[in-house]
Parts: sequence; structure tokens; C-alpha cells
Amino acid sequence: MPRKSKKINQSPVVTPIFQSSTFTFPDTASLIDFQKGKRKGFIYTRYGNPTIEAVENQIARLDGAQDSLLFSSGMAAISSACLTLLESDDEIVSSYPIYGGTAKLFDQLLKKFNIKVVFFPADDINRLSRSITRKTKLVYLESPANPNLKIIDLDSAGRIAKRRKVFSIIDSTFATPVNQKPLDFGIDAVIHSVTKYLGGHSDIVGGVISGSARFMGRVRETRKHLGGCADPHQAFLLDRGLKTLEIRVEKHNFNAASIAKFLESVSGLKGVIYPGSFSHPQHDLAARQMSGFGGMVSFDLGSKRKAIRFVDSLKVIKNASSLGGTESLISIPIWTSHFGLRQETLTRSGITPGLVRLSVGLEADNVLIKDISQALRIAFRR
Ligand SMILES: *Cc1c(COP(=O)(O)O)cnc(C)c1O
Repeated sequence: MPRKSKKINQSPVVTPIFQSSTFTFPDTASLIDFQKGKRKGFIYTRYGNPTIEAVENQIARLDGAQDSLLFSSGMAAISSACLTLLESDDEIVSSYPIYGGTAKLFDQLLKKFNIKVVFFPADDINRLSRSITRKTKLVYLESPANPNLKIIDLDSAGRIAKRRKVFSIIDSTFATPVNQKPLDFGIDAVIHSVTKYLGGHSDIVGGVISGSARFMGRVRETRKHLGGCADPHQAFLLDRGLKTLEIRVEKHNFNAASIAKFLESVSGLKGVIYPGSFSHPQHDLAARQMSGFGGMVSFDLGSKRKAIRFVDSLKVIKNASSLGGTESLISIPIWTSHFGLRQETLTRSGITPGLVRLSVGLEADNVLIKDISQALRIAFRR
């Protein structure tokens, strides 16, 4: 081949991993233009990176948001959102139940800044309005809620927060953007732990916030200060997961509905909780605001002993915390996601010792049902 032949102008099909901490500028003039905001580019990966930005743009589209920012974990996203909005002596009005890590962030870290959190039950939206005071700067929501799948009326929550001029955020991890689009209901920002369904393969930890360009500009500054940025390789794996998000969620929805139906036919279970079931007290609300009911099913074996025996007898479904991956995982919330919370918080949230939380994976549903039936037989044996 002649050495001077012209190169073909090609591009990779897949977003490459820009595994670089920093980026060069051809000259100082372009660096100054970048710093003054006249030209776009990258300077340092804590501020932004091409692989990370490509994924952020995709998630913004999925959430129907102007902008999204990726973080090193779901908790980095949640804490950064809080520290963007709050000053000392401010108040949060939060729904309950919420993810255990968030409850601890409120109870342990934010308390140091004298930030007070007032809780209202997720399934009683009327209590939201009554809990807001002049000091309230954030309405914090989670729906469906971890671990017992309480549903928040998003339309009412969005309207109440707007009327009272308080910023609202929802943790929509359990729903994914495929099943629920909270921004369409007037919620100001949405957070996902991408560790779960968005990554989808139990191989990364990450989080994302989506919202208006104005709010996300403020969050970007917080991300620079706190340093909870994602890394390019994690973003690459997330990009790969997002390609199958929609078909995975469809199968999660299908499998979970099938398992919930089976569990409802089992006598001896104290409660089967699935928003897609007619027996869920908020099924109608869930059907109004969700296009699918998700892959999480929770049920109560009635006692700590039975829950442990059931989980330990499963052969296909694995005993692990976390959720949203291709493989089915089960956990007992009092020992995992909600371990170490005060008894009063657990009682108020309905997190009983016999409660198990199943993240239904992508296996054939009959294989999972068979596994559950054999373990139930052992759990209920005297
Ligand atoms: C897992 C989870 C989080 C925390 O996310 P990390 O990625 O583990 O930091 C927050 N909210 C919900 C609902 C979760 O399930």
C-alpha cells in the first residue's frame, strides 16, 4: 500500500472508553475560551469526560430531562443533590419508607448541619402538604419504595411541591425510566442508582441525577467540590447496559407479575406485595402513573425464622443484597438494605423480620417458581 494513501474517515460503532484523567488543549487561547465558556470541551475527568457525557446524554433522553449527571454511586448522587439544595437549619420533608442508606444519610450526616427531616407515609399524600413549613427546602420522595413497594401519588406530590415553591426530588430506582417518568408529573429532579436496573448486570456501582439545565448546573459544581464523579470504565459498562434496558425491563415486569401471581396462590404467606397485583392497596394509582410495575416483589413469611429458612433453601435465586441484575436475588431487608436502622423506623415503615425482598431476574419464570415452591415447602415444614 502506498504510504501516502488517504485514511478512510471511520468511527467506532461503540462509544470508546476515554480512560484519561486529563485532556490537552492545542493552545492557551482555546483553553481560555473553554474556561470562559465560549467553547465546549473537556479539561479534567472529575469535571467531565467524553465517555461519561455520552451516557449522561442518553439517560437525560430516557428521563425526558434537559440534563443528567453521573456519579460514583447512587448515594453520591443523593448526597450531592441534598448538599446542592440545603443549608444548615433547613428542613426536608421526606416520604417513608426509603432506602436504608438514604435514611442514614438524613439521620447521621445531615443532622450535623442541623438539617431536620420530617417524614410522611408514602401512601398518605395528604400528610405531605401539612408537613411543609417555611423552613422546608426539599421534598424528597421514593416510589416504588424500598423495600415494601409503597407508591407515591406523583401528580399530587408534584403539584403540592410546586404550589408551596419547594424543590422536589424522587428516587425512581425501582421503576427505571422505562416504567416511570416522574418529571412528566412535575417532580423537579429524578435520581436512579444505576447500580441496579440501568447498569443491569450487577457489575458496577453508580448513580445519576436528571433535571433542568439550571439545577444540573448547580449539581455539576457540587460534583466538582465533593468529587463523587463516575469513571470512564464504569460509564462504558453502563452504556452497554442501557442498550438492553428496555427489553430487560419488559422481561423483569413479566417475570415479576408471574411470580406475584404464583405467590398469591400460596397459603400461609402473610402478604404478597407487587404494585401490578389487584391486591396491592395502591394498584390503581400505580397503574395511572407507571407503564409497567417493575421486577421487585416483596412478601412476608411471618417470622424471622421462616424467612431465614426460606432464603437459605433457595437453589437458583441467590442470597445477596442489591437488585436489578440479570440474576434473581433475594434479601431479608432487616439484615441488608435496612440493617442498623432504629426499631421505630422499621416498625413505622412496615419492615418486619419475616419480610423478604425478591429482585426477579431474567431466568425462565417457571424455573424461579419451582425454586420458590421447594423453598417454601422447607420454610413451612415443622
Ligand atoms: C441501591 C439503592 C440506592 C443506593 O445506591 P448505591 O448505588 O448503592 O449507592 C438508593 N436508592 C435505592 C432505592 C436503592 O435501591
